[in-house]
Amino acid sequence: MEEKFNLETYGWDDFFARAFAPYEREGFEAGRVLLQHNRIYALYTASGETVAETTGRLRFNARGADDLPAVGDWVAVRRNAEGKAQIHEVLPRKSKFSRKAAGRETEEQIVAANVDTVFLVTGLDNDFNPRRIERYLIMAWESGAQPVVVLNKSDLVEDAEEKRAEIELVAPGASVVALSAKRGEGVEQLLPYIGRGQTVALMGSSGVGKSTIVNRLLGSEVQRTQDVRLSDARGRHTTTHRELFVLEGGGLILDTPGMRELQLLVSEKGLRETFEDIEEVASECRFSDCRHENEPGCAVREALETGSLDAERYANYRKMQAEMRHAATLVDQRKAQEEKTRVKRIHRAFNRKPDKRR
Ligand code: GDP
Ligand code: ZN
Repeated sequence: MEEKFNLETYGWDDFFARAFAPYEREGFEAGRVLLQHNRIYALYTASGETVAETTGRLRFNARGADDLPAVGDWVAVRRNAEGKAQIHEVLPRKSKFSRKAAGRETEEQIVAANVDTVFLVTGLDNDFNPRRIERYLIMAWESGAQPVVVLNKSDLVEDAEEKRAEIELVAPGASVVALSAKRGEGVEQLLPYIGRGQTVALMGSSGVGKSTIVNRLLGSEVQRTQDVRLSDARGRHTTTHRELFVLEGGGLILDTPGMRELQLLVSEKGLRETFEDIEEVASECRFSDCRHENEPGCAVREALETGSLDAERYANYRKMQAEMRHAATLVDQRKAQEEKTRVKRIHRAFNRKPDKRR
């Protein structure tokens, strides 16, 4: 078999192999989603690229988008009696990026799965905004992917290194690199993250240079521009760009419009890790439930007064905390509603079946 069809090229490893073992015994094939269009998926499998649909059972049992395949997912696929490839199961994810569905208040939508490293791209020029980078970091930590802050357009500023050092202070645990994608300067700093089978995604506002970076990393544009032709069960056709593609030098880039501009849906865990320093100061407060307002022995207020804690950073932390609580309430309400609907559906399906015991 040709080297480029090895599953490892697409990110397959022990983690997925273990999860897949029971399916392999049942004769399933493993595939990785490279593109999704409504219910149709294009997959990389060991036997080549294939187009597949989800089974009715998978859709029926899905409690939300979380249970359905997304770009980057590994799935268990098998051909049915008519020879059509069908996705029966989504394997557990190493990481996932999600956002609120457009128009819906809180329904989660998975925009990318199994990303190993996420490049958080911002410009060093007018776009430069440490607060926004903090927000991106929260999402990245929450996703399970390793963040790398990429400060692009170093050719436009004199103080690239100072700004890089500044960001390093607000990004504990993440690498911070400055480069110029346009000139190709410093781009080699990204290479360690795109080794064979490593999946990278990019996040950042429009215009910061994400496409320019992707084009730099592509050995050639061949993979990306090779369109995928999809036809659904009713024989309708669409042609679309692949959203997960293999680089010539190994490594994969996951590049979807949804991933590029994620809406914020922060969680406690991401917030904690991003603002670890503040949490640490807060742990010194006399009262464990200190709200850092007028309580005596408040370490946070003291740190703000002495300046050892940056007031702006603290304000951003409070704002994120408030947003997070708000989002969490909405998600809880929606989840409760979904669960009710699901239970109703199960009851209805059950009642339709004749009871064999009688
Ligand atoms: P995207 O929207 O994030 O994909 O951004 P693009 O890659 O389309 O880039 C937006 C604009 O910024 C284009 O005009 C690029 O040529 C320019 N650009 C990208 N990288 C750099 C860079 O390193 N330096 C400068 N000066 N311009 C850049
Ligand atoms: Zn306090």
